[in-house]
Amino acid sequence: MKCKICKAPAAVALKSHNAAFCPDCYKDFFARQVARGIEGQKLFTRDERILVALSGGKDSLALMLELARQDYNVTGLHIDLAIPGSSAAARGVVERFCAKHGLKLLIKDMAAEGLPIPAVKERLHRPICSACGKIKRHFFNKVALDEGFDALATGHNLDDEAARLFSNTLRWDTAYLSDQGPLLPGEHGFARKVKPLWRLTEFETANYAFLMGIENHYAPCPYSPGASFTVLKGLLQRLETAMPGRKLDFYQGFLARGRPVFARREAEEGVELAPCPQCGYPTSSGDLCGVCRIREALRGE
Ligand code: SF4
Ligand code: ZN
Repeated sequence: MKCKICKAPAAVALKSHNAAFCPDCYKDFFARQVARGIEGQKLFTRDERILVALSGGKDSLALMLELARQDYNVTGLHIDLAIPGSSAAARGVVERFCAKHGLKLLIKDMAAEGLPIPAVKERLHRPICSACGKIKRHFFNKVALDEGFDALATGHNLDDEAARLFSNTLRWDTAYLSDQGPLLPGEHGFARKVKPLWRLTEFETANYAFLMGIENHYAPCPYSPGASFTVLKGLLQRLETAMPGRKLDFYQGFLARGRPVFARREAEEGVELAPCPQCGYPTSSGDLCGVCRIREALRGE
């Protein structure tokens, strides 16, 4: 097979785009998709400071590298969850990656914050992932606002977004459907959140990461539940194999015609947010936010 652009031997074939590319033309293709994702949804500009959440996985590292290559003003943020056997490996990958490419990096250490995930797990006596997600979102938001960044970028790709949309739709969760998308404006004490890889699949991002020599992080979290998302992603992949391009159509159709309807409805119903009396994080409960409640639970030991 030959590259669609320069006719050199192809390295990556993409059915959904009915095309194959050599390594260099593939990197250009990836860059164009990221640029279209940013400009099409007006996510951010080159004058703005972007904080990129770096988990150590290939998606967030690929995002950081491509934004830097496109001259965006990026700084990485890694949250060290202090989970034995996985956090040190993830942190090492992120630190080596940023040092290699000369990229700015901030680290937030949950052990130093008094919130190491194993201690939270021990204390809560319930599945840890929802509390862990809450803690990560809290600190991503806090660092973005405290350090004056214009937006917080995450490495969610089309597979993540389509699976989340599928899951929200199966439950007709109108609150989540109203604010799912590549751009969540900053308001009510929340930083602007953006997902520049929303047009690219896991496969496409993995190919870019491989061609760019991005080191892979092989130590998965020992608490990983093997989530239901894996099932939904598998179903969507079968659909994509039978009907190439359908995954992007599903998500883009939602952004153009579904989300505005749900967003209007939620705005009419309006949820009141107030700052947490302890840390200032926005909360709908009128009381302590989720992370301050976790801190209280840990103190009560
Ligand atoms: Fe946190 Fe769960 Fe992810 Fe582990 S698998 S890092 S506990 S959200
Ligand atoms: Zn709080």
